[in-house]
Amino acid sequence: MKKLYLFGNWKMYLGHEESVALARDLKKQLSALSVKATMAIFPSAISLLAVKEELDGVASVGPQNVYWVEKGGYTGEISAMMYRQAGCQFALVGHSERRHVFKESNAEVRQKFEAVLNAEMTPVLCVGETMPERKDDRVEEVIEAQLRSAFMDLAWPKGRSLIIAYEPVWAVGTGESCDPSEAERVAAVIYKFVGALLDGVEPTVLYGGSVRSDNVAKYCAEPHLSGVLVGGASTKASTWLEIVSAVK
Ligand code: PEP
Repeated sequence: MKKLYLFGNWKMYLGHEESVALARDLKKQLSALSVKATMAIFPSAISLLAVKEELDGVASVGPQNVYWVEKGGYTGEISAMMYRQAGCQFALVGHSERRHVFKESNAEVRQKFEAVLNAEMTPVLCVGETMPERKDDRVEEVIEAQLRSAFMDLAWPKGRSLIIAYEPVWAVGTGESCDPSEAERVAAVIYKFVGALLDGVEPTVLYGGSVRSDNVAKYCAEPHLSGVLVGGASTKASTWLEIVSAVK
């Protein structure tokens, strides 16, 4: 049976007290559900440690973004290594909001990806196309460019895990989700590209983009998908627990 991953990206939706209260509530309710999936929450940087403490034993936490230099005069940044030292196991890299709102290039995403690897965390590399790119039949081209840039000339550390989140930009935070069979088609393409670019590495592929309790099981059942990365619906105990229960 495949291992299942349920990841929740809280983005910048919750203040500190709201984050801690949600984590406390989740811990109480998730312990009763005895979930078999690997669960990770990506809270805002300011609440990460407090949320980590609250979720101890039920979910790990990770950053939504990292900086690639380990230490130095980079006001306002937090390095991948610092997150690792704070006890994080996973880190999001190249989320579509970073790429499109903050104009992060494939080259910057590559530096962050490498920094996460060097810090010995598991990168959750987000890739996906915009709607105009999909309409132009450029899905494979865009995703291959994102993957190629992240992996080119990289000496892959033997035995390290790699998670790729397929998150079509038009589905993130819009309420419009990708058809599960299409997400599966793209996940299979990602799987093939990664194997070719990284000499047989088998990534774990997740789907993200308006996942809810009524569609999550369909994504998780697809052969190349091992779970989901959820934004909005992970920021309320009720909707997150419904998602968890739907795949339990
Ligand atoms: C995300 O932030 O990664 C995401 C998929 O958001 P949403 O579930 O809100 O579409």
